Amino acid sequence: MSKVRHAPGGAGASGASLAATTTLPEGSFESAYASVAAELRELMPSGGAVIDAHTHLGADEDGQSLALDRLIEYLDQVDPHARAIVFPLHDPDRPPAYRVPNDRVLQWAAESEGRLFPFCRLDPADDPVAEAKRCLALGARGIKLHPRAQSFGFADAAADAIFRVAREAGVPILIHAGRGMPPMTSLADLAMRYPDVSLVLAHAAIADQGMLATVLADHPRVVYDTSCFSTLDVVELFARVPAERIVFGSDTPYGRPVGGLFQAMRAAAYARLGHTERALIAGGTITALLDGRPPATATPPRLPQVRPASGSLARINGYLLMSFAATVSAGPPPDPARGLIGIQLARAACRDPDPGAARSALERIDALLAAAEQLTLGTREQAPHALELIMSASAIAATEAIDHTTQATSLDLGNQEAQTHAPTRQTNSPKSTVRASHADSFAAHLHSRQG
Ligand SMILES: [Zn+2]
Repeated sequence: MSKVRHAPGGAGASGASLAATTTLPEGSFESAYASVAAELRELMPSGGAVIDAHTHLGADEDGQSLALDRLIEYLDQVDPHARAIVFPLHDPDRPPAYRVPNDRVLQWAAESEGRLFPFCRLDPADDPVAEAKRCLALGARGIKLHPRAQSFGFADAAADAIFRVAREAGVPILIHAGRGMPPMTSLADLAMRYPDVSLVLAHAAIADQGMLATVLADHPRVVYDTSCFSTLDVVELFARVPAERIVFGSDTPYGRPVGGLFQAMRAAAYARLGHTERALIAGGTITALLDGRPPATATPPRLPQVRPASGSLARINGYLLMSFAATVSAGPPPDPARGLIGIQLARAACRDPDPGAARSALERIDALLAAAEQLTLGTREQAPHALELIMSASAIAATEAIDHTTQATSLDLGNQEAQTHAPTRQTNSPKSTVRASHADSFAAHLHSRQG
């Protein structure tokens, strides 16, 4: 079914505004991104809610900003009925107590005709309980906390008080988790004292994913949003937490709903989730949390923690993440020209005369990157859109389902080894069995080479 609406003029999911500003050689960007939009249509579950669990409105100290009409336009690119949870950025107008940005978000949500679920952002050092109660009384559907930006730890009494408010109101808390910050261990301690408070851990918990997935494994209401710059973080989520604990998010304006959903659905397909489970990720699970219900019963993680990979695609993904990091290391604002070398390295890796089973993925990635390269060399307005193509190419590189059994045969490995390599059929296997099978296949590979 068609979930991605094509913008007028055949601009695909990239949007009409982008098509209007580009002066690229005919069709390069449009045709490149159209393949992403077309695949997203195939990957999307039919029916069910589409809710982006992580978007911002307003202005940030880093120069980013987003207006209501633009966010609605971005959501329309996914589906005319797509909705989003929304909260303020690190707004320069935040003192006192984030009141002004919270009021703006509440007002924008009220104007959105039901498309937006407003969350209030709190500063635990600045009257957070009163501000939370004020916003909840005005219609806020949840709370957003950013421990790095607001410099607080979850052992603070204020954090405990905020959790109490959330429990009383029956609303979820979205927390910017990750980046290896010490407060995350105290978050786990606090969360386990409030098993009835729903938590959304942003950005798949970034660097703390393994720690939080382990210590919060028994928490019945913790979910992870998929707004990540590295698709590997999203893929790994499917190896560490139940699929019923994963929700789509884009971090717009830093991402876009279409790109974020493409990344999430690619990772879900890689983990071999069916349409019913993908519908939970696209919006079903976050709907339950917004309604005050717990998420669906958890099932074991769908991927083994050790997985076969295409070396070519892993190298390309590395170059693309270098490109992304170089781009955003400048500024604000980011400087796409700094990412050019990463694009060129990735394109060189795509020009492989013996690509094996990765051939079609390499060709597709190269087409996206050719357009990204042209955008990077274009005008100031065009250049930032290169990131959308780079991130889509990176998502493909990280989630392509490679037929490695064919590869194993070409290495003249035994039939038995080819079977033990099948990664995602080991769904629900005990971890020890998965690890043993990979160790066995690696040993068989060594034996065959030596023999
Ligand atoms: Zn964010």
